[in-house]
Amino acid sequence: MRIARFTTGDEPQFGVVTGEVDDLGIPSEDTRLVGLAGDPLYVGVQLSDTEVPLSDVRLLAPVLPRSKVVGIGRNYAAHAAELGNEAPAEPLLFLKPNTSVVGPGDPVFYPRQSREVHYEGELAVVIGRICRDVPVERVADVVHGYTVANDVTARDLQRSDVQFTRAKGFDSFCPLGPWVETELDPSDLEVTTHLNGDLRQHGTTKDMIYDVPSLVAYVSSVMTLLPGDLILTGTPEGVGPMQVGDEVEVTVAGIGSLTNKVVARD
Ligand code: MG
Repeated sequence: MRIARFTTGDEPQFGVVTGEVDDLGIPSEDTRLVGLAGDPLYVGVQLSDTEVPLSDVRLLAPVLPRSKVVGIGRNYAAHAAELGNEAPAEPLLFLKPNTSVVGPGDPVFYPRQSREVHYEGELAVVIGRICRDVPVERVADVVHGYTVANDVTARDLQRSDVQFTRAKGFDSFCPLGPWVETELDPSDLEVTTHLNGDLRQHGTTKDMIYDVPSLVAYVSSVMTLLPGDLILTGTPEGVGPMQVGDEVEVTVAGIGSLTNKVVARD
């Protein structure tokens, strides 16, 4: 099931995406949204009598993380190598503030403090229930679904600060969307990033050093995870800079595409 969050100009609401979606997650023209009563993370999937064409709505970030977005650094060996880093001996964790989250089509603001802002296309795991110390074999019980993320990073600040908080924490540095797919095997999904229509990243989640069950188990052994928390699973090789005016599109096969434009911060 694909669950979006959207607005038609009024209060944001959740809805189930109906209609055909191709292998890349691109919806057909007759795709519609059937509204839900409340947030499915808290009240389950209760259909309302609202139904609107997808083309008539503005999609919003499909999840509002109440507590945290956990990032995983250097989880693809080829990406670690392209930035001159070793593959980590254990998953490398960092946090992005929930205020960095924006939705499909929202601007990514280029911060005044940086001269080198990179895209990082990633599969994101959406946690569905409060949990800690989750064994690998029970991870499926705590995952609500999956969405697409762009782990936007000010690479120059990441180098100069050493730790990642400022480089990855600016407002708008965590685009999410277009929706959450609740039924998906995350073990071999194509991840691609296009910049102004040119292919820049082309990887598969099969090449992750630590797979999704291992990551959820590992993160939950460090911190309690809450419904709506996200784990960004790392980016394949091919990261690179974006400039003001660029359009970046991240696609995860089986979920869909997330497009954002880079805009100057006043
Ligand atoms: Mg990343």
